[in-house]
Amino acid sequence: MAQLTDDCFAFSGPLLPIDEVERILRERVMPVAETEMVPLNAAYGRVMASDVTAPISLPPFDNSAVDGYAVRAADLDRTAETRLAIAGRVTAGHAAAQALASGAAIRIFTGAPMPAGADTVFMQEDVRRDGEAVSVPPGLDAGANRRLAGEDVRAGAILLPAGRRLSARHVALAAAVGLTQLPVRRRIRVAVLSTGDEIVEPGTPRPSAALFDANRYLLAGLITGLGAQSSDLGIVPDDPQLLRRAIAAAAEEHDLVLTSGGVSTGEADHVRSAVESIGRLVFWRVAVKPGRPVAMGVIRGSRSGTGAAFVGLPGNPVAVFVTFARVVRPLMGRLAGAEMTPLIALAVRATFAHRKKKGRREYVRVTLRRGGDGVIEAVKHAQEGAGVITSLTETDGLVELLEDTTEIAPGESVGFLSYAALVG
Ligand code: AMP
Ligand code: MG
Repeated sequence: MAQLTDDCFAFSGPLLPIDEVERILRERVMPVAETEMVPLNAAYGRVMASDVTAPISLPPFDNSAVDGYAVRAADLDRTAETRLAIAGRVTAGHAAAQALASGAAIRIFTGAPMPAGADTVFMQEDVRRDGEAVSVPPGLDAGANRRLAGEDVRAGAILLPAGRRLSARHVALAAAVGLTQLPVRRRIRVAVLSTGDEIVEPGTPRPSAALFDANRYLLAGLITGLGAQSSDLGIVPDDPQLLRRAIAAAAEEHDLVLTSGGVSTGEADHVRSAVESIGRLVFWRVAVKPGRPVAMGVIRGSRSGTGAAFVGLPGNPVAVFVTFARVVRPLMGRLAGAEMTPLIALAVRATFAHRKKKGRREYVRVTLRRGGDGVIEAVKHAQEGAGVITSLTETDGLVELLEDTTEIAPGESVGFLSYAALVG
């Protein structure tokens, strides 16, 4: 299960930039190899294992886009109304009984096949009907209101490429061409554990100096949201041996082991040394705020070919969220074999002033609103602490300040990433 190539690529510099993290993940992490065929209703969130081509064109036949009258454009007067005899009727789901003769129209409904000879459809609202004839106005383009066979999908074209993560939209496309199952990669398995003597499970008694565990619940939801399988390995105290054992055991059964807390340089922070004793650390400090301490590594398995990727996230929930979005999500995407689509920050206007250190990327929690002039503005949350969980729940997303930026003034344009874009 060790999906990381084994050559040494440990980074020795002080703080690894996000772009370098992404490059390492792209170059060194391999997707899980196992694939399976799944029925459409089990395909949501899965990742295509290979390209699938369209067995039929879409639409499969020329048809009408509206309720109205099918005509031959060549019959129409360019400057005056044209009166046409109604020669027949065709409804959706029924083949046209006859071809359209010159000088005639056929009553047609949305989705019904175009009669042979017809190339244009007038909407019923736009015509005058009198008895068995219809008068149509001048000026409609030839081919209007007709859907051509294959204008959506051509038979034989790639419908869904390898690496595509299947949303409802993609599954609908597969169904529309008549597919019943899709080749996908195995779902990746991610183990989650929290560390810290002060962390207790919600629903259990809370000693006065303890906190209920928020991070496992945050991570489990983010992991399943990405279509992976999440295993809950509970809370491990700040004990080097217990940590080592818990991580090593998790690595036997999972593709990725995630911990939170205990990863900085305090005396009770044992995650890094645990990883070094049972595997290899790839990097442990990333140039990102919040979230600087992020340990990434590989844990050896007991048998050859086993083992798992490892990421030790910081303890503060906001830092967990940010580092999940910027480090774990691309890592999971690589392991799952998913396409890596770039995150595109949308330009919004800052209403706040902000100073930052050069050389690291910073994420500011903001709420959006529309300014008096209609421009979308980002309002910084009042509390900046990385432990303030309501700063995640009461905001819309993150403003991303790049490495070179040192200062933002009110009115400046900044890049905004919605929570949906970051972890969806
Ligand atoms: P650490 O990196 O272990 O020093 O943790 C940093 C901060 O995050 C401390 O205040 C911890 O109490 C808090 N923290 C760590 N783990 C969790 C957790 N699972 N849920 C909520 N807060 C946590
Ligand atoms: Mg701790």
